[in-house]
Amino acid sequence: MLRERLDSLEDRIARAAARSRRRRQDITLVAVTKNLPAQAIEEAARLGVRHFGENYVQEFETKRAALAGSTSSAGARFHLIGHLQANKARKAVELFDVIQTVDSARLAQRLDQAAAGPIDVMLEVKLSPEESKAGVSPEDLPCLMEAVAGCPNLRLRGLMTMPPWSDQAEPSRPYFRRLRALAEENGLAGLSMGMSHDFETAIEEGATLIRIGTALFGPRRRA
Ligand SMILES: *Cc1c(COP(=O)(O)O)cnc(C)c1O
Repeated sequence: MLRERLDSLEDRIARAAARSRRRRQDITLVAVTKNLPAQAIEEAARLGVRHFGENYVQEFETKRAALAGSTSSAGARFHLIGHLQANKARKAVELFDVIQTVDSARLAQRLDQAAAGPIDVMLEVKLSPEESKAGVSPEDLPCLMEAVAGCPNLRLRGLMTMPPWSDQAEPSRPYFRRLRALAEENGLAGLSMGMSHDFETAIEEGATLIRIGTALFGPRRRA
């Protein structure tokens, strides 16, 4: 089941990459395992998936412990893709290899202080006016970048965004374009954008990391 889904996903990634004259190796598949048991990570890791995305610090703490003896997931990289509260910064740097959702100078400084060594981060940018969305506004991005530059443990890898929800891909395109333009203006290479319903569009617009849950693991139950 998972193998078939992964094969078909890989196929679609390859075709989107070819269409946009990009190399498959420049696009990282991050398998999103929120609300799924540790065995889902284990099983995907056995099929060669190397990057995993989790939304909640506490949820992943339990899974990471469950994966302690797992050889297939050894060497996998774990990305935090959900909103992070500053008071969980210490736990987050212990558990994750990449924090994709840095959106304030305060959070950046907390992560920097908590980190025992260099940690990869991305800045979450809020490109839509929806009240509920986390992220730094494009206007405040230069200021946040300056704050991150002053954090010796943080390695800034790029930008991340979530367009307003839609079950169609095309409405996301202007948001992906905007994120890419912002990254280019600011000299950043990494672009985390695109989910199950719009990853092909994201690849066409330059995504370097796509975050895929449903297309790999099937529909999720609500937590
Ligand atoms: C859940 C989630 C995803 C994956 O969504 P799917 O539609 O299941 O692919 C990607 N990014 C973030 C931030 C998420 O919370």
